Parts: sequence; C-alpha cells; structure tokens
Amino acid sequence: MSLRNFPFGGENCNPLKASGLFGRKKDRLWLPVSSYLIEFPARKVLFDCGWNREMSPKGTFDKKAQIKSLGGYFLYKTNQGLLPQGEAIDEQLRSLGVKPSDLDFVLLSHLDCDHANGLKLVDEARRILVSNEELRFATNKTLVNKIRYNPRWWSDTKIEGFDWNGAEGPAKQSYDVFGDGSLRMINIPGHSPGLCALKIVNAEGQFVLLFSDGGYAKKSWKEQITSGIADDRAAQKKSLLWIREQCLAPNCVESLANHDPDAIPHVIEL
Ligand SMILES: [Zn+2]
Repeated sequence: MSLRNFPFGGENCNPLKASGLFGRKKDRLWLPVSSYLIEFPARKVLFDCGWNREMSPKGTFDKKAQIKSLGGYFLYKTNQGLLPQGEAIDEQLRSLGVKPSDLDFVLLSHLDCDHANGLKLVDEARRILVSNEELRFATNKTLVNKIRYNPRWWSDTKIEGFDWNGAEGPAKQSYDVFGDGSLRMINIPGHSPGLCALKIVNAEGQFVLLFSDGGYAKKSWKEQITSGIADDRAAQKKSLLWIREQCLAPNCVESLANHDPDAIPHVIEL
C-alpha cells in the first residue's frame, strides 16, 4: 500500500506528500509486489523477495506484526503489506517445486523493504547479491536512510555486494552475473543510487527487462512520470529515458515494473 503520489507523484510532488504520512485513507493505493524466478537450463535465479511471512503471520492484515517486521512506525505508515497465505516467496517457490536451496542466486534490485524484507525466507540459496553501491547507501547513517532501511532484513544472511564489471545503462554501470552476457544487473539510479534493473538475454539477443522501481508502471516510461520520492530526480529521469529506449527496442520481448497495478503473474519463455 502506498499513496498515489508515491508511484506517480511526478516532478512537483514534495517528499512529505509522497510519503503518505499525512495522507487520507481514500487516497491509498494498493500495488502488487513482484518477485521473479528465472530458470536457465542449469541454473535457477530469483530476483527480489517481496514481504516476509512475519509481516502477516496469519495471512491477514496485522498492524503489530508489520511494525515489528519493518522495525518502525514510519515505515509502517508509508508501506503496508498484505500477504495472503501461499504468497510469501518460499511458499510460492514451494508451489512450483523449488526449494530455496535449489536457487543458485538471489539478486536484489535494491534494499527497500518490499524487495528485501523476505530475503531470510530464501537464505539457503547458494549466493545472494546486491550492488555495493546500494549496500553502502542503505547502511549510511543519514536520518532518511536510518528510517528507510532496516539492516535486519539482510544482516545474518550470506549477502555479498558486487562491484560493476560493465558499462551498460544510463549510468554506464552494470554487472554481468554469469560472465556470458545472459544475465545483467544494470544500474538505473534515481529511486536509490544502487538500484538495478535485470536484463535477461537469449542467444539471439532478445531480452526481457525487469526494471524494478525504475518506474511504477508502463505509463511511467511512456509518459516519463517520475515517482513522488526520489533520491536523485535528475538521475531518475535519465534512467526512465533509458528504460523507455529499452522497452521500445525491437528485440525487447517484454518489460515489467515491479509494482505495475496491471501486473498479472505469468510465464515468459525466452
Ligand atoms: Zn518497491
């Protein structure tokens, strides 16, 4: 849950308005939270983790549990999660016959609560990666970040930071996960400095782009609508332009925003 201004606030929205702290109930907007399982012939990769079951132990809305899981009242006011039974990441994987220990990699687009809060549910994956830039940002001690991030979501996991090893994307910073070009984390700063989109590329050069919170829906890149909260709005606009260019490329098979209100779970074959 967030307020309308958060995803689609645009340039003239102030952060307080976008945060929803003093917003009205009728302006609330429920958005989906997505995770993606990517299956290669010999590897399984998960991109983002969604909410932890502890947010919603019985599958119903639980204010006390949410404040505890998020680690503070401010985060609860700006992000409320509803997690019906069967929809936590480990539960969804189980329904597909996949155990967390079957995952070769868990990749995190960034460390905001709706992407990293569920990480401990898949801690048995072989490796967990996030950009070092995001890790540094999320653990710096500015007041905003102390409120925004809670290291408890990822501490005590085997999380590793990676340094950029490529120059793709709007910030010319990317990371080739396997070293063969088939899976690339591409820095799309703005929402946070270390935010990454994931590009999955087949042998013919066709690709799927998962652009996480680089935009909140198709209309974000189509109409270049920035979100209400941005760490760096100029960078966010530049990233949105790059996302648009990618989405319109003839070899782009599909592109998805993590919280697109129109998102329906489905399988893409590449
Ligand atoms: Zn998000």
